[in-house]
Amino acid sequence: MGRYYQPEIETASREKLTEIQNEKIVKQVKHVWDNVPYYRNLMEQKGVTPDDIKGIADLHKLPFLTKADLRDAYPYGLLGTDLKNCVRIQSTSGTTGKRVVAFYTQKDIDLWEECCARAIVAAGGTEEDVCQVCYGYGLFTGGPGLNGGSHKVGCLTLPMSSGNTERQIQFMMDLGSTIICCTPSYAAYIGETLRDMGYKPEDNKLKAGIFGAEPWTEEMRHEIEKLLGIKAYDIYGLTETTGPGVSFECEEQTGMHINEDHFYPEIINPETGEVLPDGELGELVFTSLDKEGFPLLRYRTRDLCVLSKKKCSCGRTHVKMSKPKGRSDDMLIIRGVNVFPSQIEAVLLNEGYSPNYQIIVDRVNNSDTMDINVELAPELFSDIVSENVKREKSLESAMRTMLGIGPKVHLVAPNTIVRSEGKAVRVIDKRKLID
Ligand code: ADP
Ligand code: ZN
Repeated sequence: MGRYYQPEIETASREKLTEIQNEKIVKQVKHVWDNVPYYRNLMEQKGVTPDDIKGIADLHKLPFLTKADLRDAYPYGLLGTDLKNCVRIQSTSGTTGKRVVAFYTQKDIDLWEECCARAIVAAGGTEEDVCQVCYGYGLFTGGPGLNGGSHKVGCLTLPMSSGNTERQIQFMMDLGSTIICCTPSYAAYIGETLRDMGYKPEDNKLKAGIFGAEPWTEEMRHEIEKLLGIKAYDIYGLTETTGPGVSFECEEQTGMHINEDHFYPEIINPETGEVLPDGELGELVFTSLDKEGFPLLRYRTRDLCVLSKKKCSCGRTHVKMSKPKGRSDDMLIIRGVNVFPSQIEAVLLNEGYSPNYQIIVDRVNNSDTMDINVELAPELFSDIVSENVKREKSLESAMRTMLGIGPKVHLVAPNTIVRSEGKAVRVIDKRKLID
């Protein structure tokens, strides 16, 4: 079968893909118009009817949907079919506010799991593999999505869920896991724990990891690859569109192929809503082309990235998205300067520090402050105060060069920053508590 799960569609020509997308969007808009009064109302306000949408080129005429709409319409307002046709709900992690619920028919579950299967095969997965899924199971989409994909590929699936790291390691070693799926921060933690237990990277049988659900840098990728002795692949998705597997990395590791036969991407200017050409950084917007239960059209993800249709050496033709730079609402504005946590992570790992850090933002005397607590690895830990002060100063200066503003850096003792088993909490913004 080669290295594709569904070779025909994954390597289809651009003309073929556009033809499929055009056909699906016409049907989908009609389906939504007929079944989702909330969106029909938005269309009517804009003076658009299904007759105006003859293909993907007309998509820009449709109104956007935002997270605020989802919260407004909670729980059933955006349901696209009778509840009796739905077989599952999943819910967001609530990283940025009230949770949102999404509905799935069996067909939706199948297409979602197929997308995850494409990701696993792209990472080298076959029926010979033992796939350890340590994303959380339950309402969170990470566990169920990769679990389903792993079944479809035919891997021996270990439905571990997150947490209980010692048991994760015991099963990994005893059962010879070859693929691991979790958040990148949890992968780093498992890697650290293995190292602290005296294992070397070559002692495990892992060959690949499929990591996503939170932003992570190239530096973090190298760190995890080194700790676990694997190749680390990125996977992206959100509950509103299905869950993980909306896009995934191939062996080229230069962006994630979007499963364009199901999710049509656009990049817009987040301020004006104007559609931007490929290659420009903006907010990612998804239209689900064939989902039944929760068929969102032009949903604004708030994730910032760049699209590229450059030919990929893996043979897949689907457009690639860059690693999201972070969510538009993850971006910190410190004394008027835009700062992304990912920039801080890049500096720390470049300077030889661990990926265990926390950013604390506050407002003192009407001026923003940013403090970064950085954990020292045991071998860097020193009792000599002057030694640590020197390190802090040097990190502060590297941060200033990268960010354009100077944060205060505090080195803290090994194992003092709380580890995450799911999505890491990197930022504590105390200003939000005041506002
Ligand atoms: P919540 O919005 O509550 O976190 P989800 O669990 O559905 O809900 O998370 C989806 C979000 O997670 C995406 O919109 C994106 O911001 C982030 N995300 C998912 N995968 C990745 C990834 N590979 N890289 C960066 N961010 C990601
Ligand atoms: Zn590729």
